[in-house]
Formats: sequence, C-alpha cells, structure tokens
Amino acid sequence: MTYSIEELLARSHDEWLTAASKLTFETRLFIDGDFTEAASGDTFSTVSPRDGTVLAHVQAAGAEDVDRAVRSARAAFEDGRWRDLAPRERKRVLLSWADLVLENAEELALLDTLEMGKPITESVRIDVAKTAETIAWYAEAIDKTYDEVAPTPADALALITREPLGVVGAVVPWNYALLIASWKLAPALATGNSVVLKPAEQTSLAALRLAALATQAGLPAGVLNVVPGRGEIAGQALGRHPEVDKIAFTGSAEVACLFQVYAGESNGKQVAVEAGGKSPQLVLADADIETAASAVAWGIFYNAGQTCNAGSRVVVHSSVKDQLLDAVRRITTETFRIGDPLDPGTVMGPIVDKGQLAKILGYIQRGREDGATVFLGGSRILADSGGTFVEPTVLDGVDNTSVVGQEEIFGPVLAVVSYDGDVDEGVRLANESDFGLVASVWTRDVTVAHRTARRLRAGTVWINTFDASDVITPFGGFKATGAGRDKSLHALDAYTALKTTWINLA
Ligand code: NAD
Repeated sequence: MTYSIEELLARSHDEWLTAASKLTFETRLFIDGDFTEAASGDTFSTVSPRDGTVLAHVQAAGAEDVDRAVRSARAAFEDGRWRDLAPRERKRVLLSWADLVLENAEELALLDTLEMGKPITESVRIDVAKTAETIAWYAEAIDKTYDEVAPTPADALALITREPLGVVGAVVPWNYALLIASWKLAPALATGNSVVLKPAEQTSLAALRLAALATQAGLPAGVLNVVPGRGEIAGQALGRHPEVDKIAFTGSAEVACLFQVYAGESNGKQVAVEAGGKSPQLVLADADIETAASAVAWGIFYNAGQTCNAGSRVVVHSSVKDQLLDAVRRITTETFRIGDPLDPGTVMGPIVDKGQLAKILGYIQRGREDGATVFLGGSRILADSGGTFVEPTVLDGVDNTSVVGQEEIFGPVLAVVSYDGDVDEGVRLANESDFGLVASVWTRDVTVAHRTARRLRAGTVWINTFDASDVITPFGGFKATGAGRDKSLHALDAYTALKTTWINLA
C-alpha cells in the first residue's frame, strides 16, 4: 500500500503505532545488488531511543566484507555498466529511485523514527520528502550539465571534460540518516561513480532499504553497496582501502581527522569532510526580538539539537538579552511538546542513545561548574518510558571561551553569551570558535547586516532568518568544520575530476 506525504502527515498516533508493529527489518549487508551475511557473522544491536527496546541485530561488516563491497563497486565502475549509460538513461533510473522513495515513505519514515527518535512528522516531511527531492534534483541535472572548450589558438582544440572519480566511500552520521546519505549518493551516482555507503551504527536500517530501492529502480548491481558496521572497523577499512578513490564524510570533527590520516597512510585518496559546529546567532541591539527568539528556539531545539548546523550559541547584546530569553522560554514552553516520536503531536523526540544523553547531561553539569546558570530545563525527563529524553535547556551567562561556549554538545542545549560593546565585539565573539559551519545576524539595519555577514566566518550566513536552506545552495563549513560542500551543482565537482584533451589541428 502506498501513501502520499499528505496522507502520512494526517495520520494519528494509533495509526503510526499500528504501522510500526507490522514492520519487518532487513539487517544484512547489501553488496553486489543483494543482501548478504557478514563473513564473521558478527552483529550489533540497534536500540530505539523512544523506549530503549532492541529493534534488531544488524550484521556488522568487517574488513573482509568492506573489501568485497569495494571490489564489487570497482568492477561495476571499470566495466562501465553505469557510467557509460546514456545520461538520459541514468537520469531515468535516478528519477525512478526518487519515486520509489516517496512510494515507500511510510516504511522509510518509520525506520528513521524508530532508530533515531526523530518525530515522525519530521521524518516524513524532511528526511523522506527531501531525500526524494535531492535524488530527483541531481537526476535532472544529469542531462543538463555541459563540459567546456578552452580558448586555444586556431591550430588546436582543447576539451575540458569532467570524469567520475571511480569508487566513492560515503560515511554518514545518524542525525539525518537518509537525507545526508542522499547528499552524497545522488551527486556521486549522477556523475557515474560507484559507491560504498557506511551508515552510522544507530541508523543502518533505513540506509539498507534505500539501497534496495535503488536496485529496484534499475541501478545495476555493484554500483551502490551498503556496509553497516562499527566505525573503527568498517569505517576504518573503507577509509584505508586502496581501491577507494574518495571518502565523502559527514560526522564529528575527530573522526573527520581520522579519515585524513587513513587517506594519508593508504593511497592518498581525496577526503571531503563536513564536521560539526558551534554556530552563533548574533543578535544586535536593534533586532526584531520576537522573530529572533523564535529562530533561536527552533535553531537549537529542532531535532533535539542533534543538527550539525544547530544554532547552539547565541551572542546577544546585553540591552536585549532578558527580552530575548523571556521570549525563547515562552516559545519553547508553548511549542516544543516532548514525547513519543511516533505521536504526530510530538515536536521534540528523544536523544539518539544513552551515550549521547550522558554526554549532554555532562555538558550541562560542566556549564554549571564553569559559572553558567540554568535559565531553562537542564534535566532528563520521561525516564519511565525507557526513552532518552532531555529538557530543552538554556545556559545563561556562558563565558565564550569555556567548554560549553566552545564544544559541540549535539543536544538541545543553548549557550547564551552576552556582550556590551559595539557590533565589532559581537562579531569577534561569534567568530571565536574552531568551527565555521553557519551563523546568523539579526538587525534592522541593512548596511550593518551586509557588513556583518561578510565578516562572519561560516559556510552559510543567514540575515534575519535561520536554517533556511534548499538543495539549490551549497552546504559545508570553514575551519575545523571541514572542506568540501554538499548540495547544489557544486557538489557535482566533488565527484568528478577534470580532464584536458588537447587536439592538434595544425
Ligand atoms: P561520528 O563522527 O561519531 O560518526 C560518523 C560516522 O563515522 C559514522 O558512520 C561512524 O560509524 C563513523 N566512524 C566513527 N568512528 C570511526 C572511526 N574511528 N573510523 C572510521 N569511521 C568512524 O559522528 P556521529 O556521532 O554519527 O554524528 C554526530 C556528528 O556529526 C556531530 O559532530 C555533527 O556535528 C556531525 N554532523 C555534521 C554535519 C555537517 O554537514 N557538517 C551533518 C550532520 C552531522
């Protein structure tokens, strides 16, 4: 049975509970177009953060399995079964994959919500719908992008063409399991590469289903393989594999650095990384405080703060700080209903797992010890459910150089830093971070807005808004956040190499 996005968004809690109870899980690796057991028989469990129950035991890929997946991807690349297809034929396959994602929206959204704890309406509306949109967008680009002819003298013709890199290893996190995977898979496949996808341990099931749908859409065997497994085993094996031409990684800054090491110690493969952030929302004294407060609350509490571009630091002029925080508290209390992520009325679900919950609670404690005050929240809640829920939390009086002012908490914890000086002081504090993923500035003065946007060191700067985005614009960061961009036509460059062909016409 197929349901539209609109039908799914109209469902009740009971209807979702019934649908969830009927789900079955595919837990094997996906290699060479088929589901297959891990060579060692090793498994790991995937636990639902909504109630702490074990959902499934997933096959854990070891180095031998990763090697099998890479060899399958390499064979598919070398014989041209995908890259040599006519561009329109590749487009047709990817468009049909996007359609299948939508046709299977119920199952994919349930897998995402059960594994990660994201509210079901967000899994449907964002993860599934935007994943299909991303795949379709890159499919449409396939037969609309042209190569170049260089301005040579008349006695020569020089062609500049883009060629696929070969085998891409895509390593992704759990917070947007389908969507971030699609940001890598769609441009990599659109440009004719083969891919081995390593999903995060917490969210393997949706990734496995996504790959099976690609095969159903007509993607030839071996072009897309999925190797669930532990990061330090399967992720490392992929990062060190000599037949992998590029690693496209999204995850923490620490693991991003490891992939650079793996590449340097193996074949010098390309590494593109999108790592974390401590992104500032800079609120100037003349800002529209009510609008800014709403964006501040959504910017940190959406997806329970488990978003790489969460606005986890607010840098606010002291003259408007109290007004801003009062509005943030009111909006949060009125809007962020916490509960079972299968309930469509839930706005904030649980934290992905116990380890991440403990880390978040540890940071709140550390903030207290370093002199911040808990303005809102601060505690675990709904523990009786077995789920890993934490209150939306605001830490006021944070020293920008302290641990909670600098480190990525990856949870619903806002650090509030205030300043008394002019806009230069606000910009200095906003930029005082190792990261540089996104930033915003809130002001009614258009000149100040533009000047400030230029000075903020981040891959995306928003003026009087936050988290506005689309597949049409690049996404990635400066500084420790990494190198490389997902999304937009620029991502096609990330999966291709330029070739010059010089022809003598003399
Ligand atoms: P993580 O770095 O722990 O894991 C990411 C991936 O790397 C997973 O697939 C994991 O299995 C693998 N991995 C872990 N250890 C490894 C190792 N030693 N060798 C090889 N692979 C290994 O990150 P996470 O906890 O899954 O995700 C949260 C992090 O991701 C946060 O820091 C967040 O900011 C970041 N993130 C960034 C973006 C972005 O676009 N910039 C988007 C989403 C998440």
